[in-house]
Amino acid sequence: MDLLKQRIRTDGLILNNSLLKVDSFLNQQIDPALMLKIGEEFVNRFKGETITKILTIESSGIAVSVMTGLILKVPVIFARKRKPKVTSDDVYTAKVYSYTKGESNNIMISKQFLHQDDSVLIIDDFLANGEAAAGLADIVKQAQAKVVGIGIVIEKSFQPGAQKLAQAGYRVESLARIKSFANGQVEFL
Ligand code: 5GP
Repeated sequence: MDLLKQRIRTDGLILNNSLLKVDSFLNQQIDPALMLKIGEEFVNRFKGETITKILTIESSGIAVSVMTGLILKVPVIFARKRKPKVTSDDVYTAKVYSYTKGESNNIMISKQFLHQDDSVLIIDDFLANGEAAAGLADIVKQAQAKVVGIGIVIEKSFQPGAQKLAQAGYRVESLARIKSFANGQVEFL
């Protein structure tokens, strides 16, 4: 997606040769117009598929997921990283190691929001080692629902996540695929 790649080139900051900071449009300040374009692109990529729900993880997957859900007219569910007091105990959980925080979280969603007859599109902001996406797919499996595919805004293709998910049989659609951060520059595939 050229618009996204351009924005990464102009606004992205590379940290420690492995992390991309895109706080100005995705991870802290959010550019709603770009989020809508990203939502349209996900809808386009998964055209022809039956999608009844979108599943993401808090917090940076929410904005693009809401745009996608708005166009598809389907609900958006986000997995929580910590259990709030008001969430019931009736939850699906999966253990996910956080790439950016260096700690494991038990992500969870209430069982009432996912059912056996759901066809779920999983969406996240970044794909690195595939932990978050695999955890979300595991939750869909626990609900005996179907994973239609995985939509990723920014894939770091030099890390193993995309390959791991493909090997597990999931269709992965990434809108920007980064080959390397060599010489402090973002190089796309
Ligand atoms: P994974 O679970 O695939 O190892 O990592 C994906 C998750 O880690 C995403 O949900 C995202 O929040 C975070 N993440 C991984 N790499 C980056 C990165 O380069 N930049 C930012 N901002 N987040 C990242």
